[in-house]
Amino acid sequence: MSMQVIKGISACPGVVSGKAFIFAQPEIVINEENIETSDVEREIQLFIDGRAQAKLQLEKIQAITLKNIGPNEAAIFEGHLEILLDEGVEDEIRTLIKDELMYADKAAYLVGEQYREMFATMEDAYMRERSADMKDIFRRLLANILGIHIPQLSEIEEPSVVIAFDLTPSDTAQMDKQKVLGFVTAEGGATSHVAIMSRTLVIPAIVGAKGVLNLVQDGQEIILDAIAGDIIVDPDKEQEKIYKAKLEAHQKEVARLASLKELPAVTKDGVHMDLCANVGTDIDAKPALDQGAKGVGLYRSEFLYMDRSNWPSEEEQTIAYSNVVRAFDGDLVIIRTLDIGGDKSLDYFAFPHEENPFLGWRALRVCLDKVDIFKTQLRSILRSSASGKAGIMYPMVISVEEVIKANEILEECKKELTAEGIAFDPNIQKGVMIETPAAAMMANELADIVDFFSYGTNDLTQYTLAVDRGNSHIEKLYDSFHPAVLRLMAQATAAANAKGVWVGVCGELGGNHLATLFLMGIGIKELSMSAISIPKVKEIVRATTMTEAKEIAQKVLTIGSGAEIKKFLTESVEKVLNR
Ligand code: PEP
Ligand code: MG
Repeated sequence: MSMQVIKGISACPGVVSGKAFIFAQPEIVINEENIETSDVEREIQLFIDGRAQAKLQLEKIQAITLKNIGPNEAAIFEGHLEILLDEGVEDEIRTLIKDELMYADKAAYLVGEQYREMFATMEDAYMRERSADMKDIFRRLLANILGIHIPQLSEIEEPSVVIAFDLTPSDTAQMDKQKVLGFVTAEGGATSHVAIMSRTLVIPAIVGAKGVLNLVQDGQEIILDAIAGDIIVDPDKEQEKIYKAKLEAHQKEVARLASLKELPAVTKDGVHMDLCANVGTDIDAKPALDQGAKGVGLYRSEFLYMDRSNWPSEEEQTIAYSNVVRAFDGDLVIIRTLDIGGDKSLDYFAFPHEENPFLGWRALRVCLDKVDIFKTQLRSILRSSASGKAGIMYPMVISVEEVIKANEILEECKKELTAEGIAFDPNIQKGVMIETPAAAMMANELADIVDFFSYGTNDLTQYTLAVDRGNSHIEKLYDSFHPAVLRLMAQATAAANAKGVWVGVCGELGGNHLATLFLMGIGIKELSMSAISIPKVKEIVRATTMTEAKEIAQKVLTIGSGAEIKKFLTESVEKVLNR
């Protein structure tokens, strides 16, 4: 086969090469006919062998989940194993094979459907949600009976590049960084959650590579140029040489920037910037510290709620938050309250069907309706503040009333903890994410009731421009440098600063080095980003003066096109770095 190049969107920069590992679900077709009586023993044996295989696979996944994620998540597979090995299940399958003369796969399928329906119609919402688990368990059993291979990220033997339609946080959590050199998804945009995960894990990745699953075969040699966003299939010698040089240049640049780690983020005229990291789980704290992060500007707490079977308890949450707060040793760690809904769902909580989930029941809206769940989280965040310096941040705000209500619930939690004699920081900072044009326009009033703002530029761009952030079809329209977005930010920042409220950025724009000079110049104090972006941003902070950044920002605010703004900022960055 000759070389071909597939285009996608770079999510986490890097250049790697290796074999493709196709991570896609196979189609399973059931044997509908009947068997002869003489085949009964053979089919029963197929069931027993298939079940043994499925058991081995589940045990392996369980062990990897335990190692990479934690005991609670691994415990889910304990439940799967119990059902798989259940005697009742075995009896029913044997009976269908013997008495109804069914193939083993059909018998397993029917019993699986029975269980799925039984769970789906249960009173208890938690049990109802288990019906999805039944589907998984019996699908695995069926595939093994039929000898069909279900690809599993945990089974990658040699270092490979994973190719998938899309990847969930639990898929990415299962990735062994020694084995997964990089990954490609057909879906997703630069600020979609799979892209953010790749940056957190520092795995070179390309998203939005349309059609990639039809163009690459399992085991094929590929080069992943996640700087340009190119996937090169079956590269020739010439291409290999080009990419080897590119890889070396990239490694050199990474090493050069690493030397900035211990240096402070201070401008030439002595203004200090807080460069912080965005984290998803407590295991992300170490890589963030390694890149020189001086705090956490966004702890995406929802990952703690995802890929599990029930709400995390106050204890569990307190441990997860305290681990990060403690690791940052007195530097501020801002924990965002549950940001669920939109593209993030929970297995154990049924969201209503919504035509427009991104405009629907999500984030703070859910928390203000589910006060018990909100209070459990607020109490955990408060408790973690006893281990260092924590902050609380509300996502998806549109009005003053919402924040007043959230603050009231927070005060209630403080009172309860005080009465229970549980320690917390009574002066814990609270802030709002500015993710909607409504919140930006209400900056003046919101500044009266919080300590800080942080721009969620991923959503702010999506809502200001009315462009879905995850839709690769309209990726070109999604532009955080659009003047409408930048002007909103400049106005709201001025309003906040006038009231002594400090302002940060935790959306992806905060880690985009082309935006650094502008953001500094409009009065942003803290930039929070994927840890790998910190060194480059720091290099720019150290190479400029605040006076210069302000001039650049003022000029940007007079430009009427996103493309022109990017051109001007690219030139400005070059000038600043090359003098
Ligand atoms: C944002 O919207 O910019 C943000 C930081 O939140 P998330 O990406 O998790 O929606
Ligand atoms: Mg957001």
